[in-house]
This record gives sequence, C-alpha cells and structure tokens, in this order.
Amino acid sequence: MAYDDDLRELFDLARRALACQADLGHKEIIFEPRDTHPVAAAAADMSFSSGGGSSSGSADQMSLLQENKPGLGQAQFSSLEDHRQAICACAKCSLGSTRTNFVYGVGNPNAKIMFVGEAPGRDEDLQGEPFVGRAGKLLDKIIEAMGFKRQDVYIGNILKCRPPENRDPQPDEMKTCIPYLEEQIRLIKPQFLVCLGRIAAHGLLDTMTPLGKLRGQWHDFRGTPVIVTYHPAALLRFAQYKRPTWEDMQTLLAEYERLNQNK
Ligand code: URA
Repeated sequence: MAYDDDLRELFDLARRALACQADLGHKEIIFEPRDTHPVAAAAADMSFSSGGGSSSGSADQMSLLQENKPGLGQAQFSSLEDHRQAICACAKCSLGSTRTNFVYGVGNPNAKIMFVGEAPGRDEDLQGEPFVGRAGKLLDKIIEAMGFKRQDVYIGNILKCRPPENRDPQPDEMKTCIPYLEEQIRLIKPQFLVCLGRIAAHGLLDTMTPLGKLRGQWHDFRGTPVIVTYHPAALLRFAQYKRPTWEDMQTLLAEYERLNQNK
C-alpha cells in the first residue's frame, strides 16, 4: 500500500515535471519507467497529444510534439483534480496577474450535461467558482427547471480568469485558455454541451456565426452534441430571451430523455 502511494506520488511528480517541460516548449520528451507495477504501467500509458483527441503515446514513451502550441492545454490528465492542480497557477496570459482566483469549473465530474459560459466575473473571481453571481443564480434556476441540481451538471467557462472590468475575452486569451476547457470536456465526457452565449459558442465551435443563427440547431464538438443558447446575463437584461432559452433547454431535454430512457 505504502509502495503504491510512493509510486503514485513519484509518477505524479514525474508527470507534472513532464507537463512543465511541455509547457516550456520542449519538442519531445521521453519517459522510460523501469517498473512494471500497475501504477507504473498506468503512468507510462498516460500520453500527451494535441487537443482532446486520441492519445499518441506508447507505453514506454510519451512524446510531446507541440511546437507553437500552448503546452499544458495539450497534456492529457487522468482526473479533473490532477488537471486543475497542474494549471491553476497558469500565467500564460496577462489575466494571470490580475485575477484573484483561478476559476477552474464546478460540478459532477461524470456529468451528462456540461454548461460552458464566457469567463468569471467579479463574484466568480472572488469565490473561485463559476456562475455564483446574479447570472449564476439564474442559471441555477434554469438547471432546476430542467429537473437537475447544480451538483448534477458541470459548469465551466471559456476563460479561467476574469478579464478586467468584465471586458470581452480577447482572441489570444481564448486561444490560450480553450485547450484547458477541451481537456475538461475530454475528462468529463458529457453527453451534451450547452454554450451559454456568443463567446462560449464562438470559442467552442470555432465559428463567428451570429448567436441567433447558431441557436435552434445541433452542433458538434468532437462527437459531443452541442446546443447554443443565450447567456443568463442576457436574460437578466432582456426578459424576452427567457422563452427562447427555455425552448432551447426543451430541445436538449428531449434528446437527453431519448438517450437515457432505458438507463
Ligand atoms: N458569466 C460567465 O460567463 N461565467 C461565469 O462564471 C459567470 C458569469
């Protein structure tokens, strides 16, 4: 048992060191474990590849080919907590120096529905949790009206740090931060993704199509169906968006029920 713990710690350390090297732009990292213990085998099996796609490593070699790519975002982790720990001190963009808290995400790590917002606001920055302010309270109501609790779903954002004065995320900030979200999606494997608002939809779906045109149809993110709806903050300002938002959630729920009816 102690042996297991020691090994786990050792490989955790090794993994973090490798992730750091990747982050610093090393083109290729070779990792040759000498132990055939299951923990060692699992660590050796852990591979790094670009994006959230399939792994590219072999059992005794982790290859990092990441020229011109944001490093840690490409690393693949075995749990959300490992991932959070590895990235929570991120300083890749200027928001790293203005944030109070890194806002990773919250909810069920096995959630079937994952909501994606834009970026932390003031309350989220102070509390380190997404959607805890007024828009968050409204999101909670939407989630409850859908028949779930906040703890049942997963809630994340395109950016993990608050942009000053809640300005729109900049394209370079999104480019740097989205790989973190992609890794979260890879780990959670939700059945459905919900993009809350324009920035979330544009960031995740890599499109500039206006929100109005993205609504009302299914989209795809690496095999996961995506629905786009209004951001809860928009609903606070424009009550007329509440009904269409609810219709979007009905569309999602119908598909959710169809897929889960015999489970
Ligand atoms: N708005 C967002 O998009 N995300 C949050 O976490 C809070 C408000």
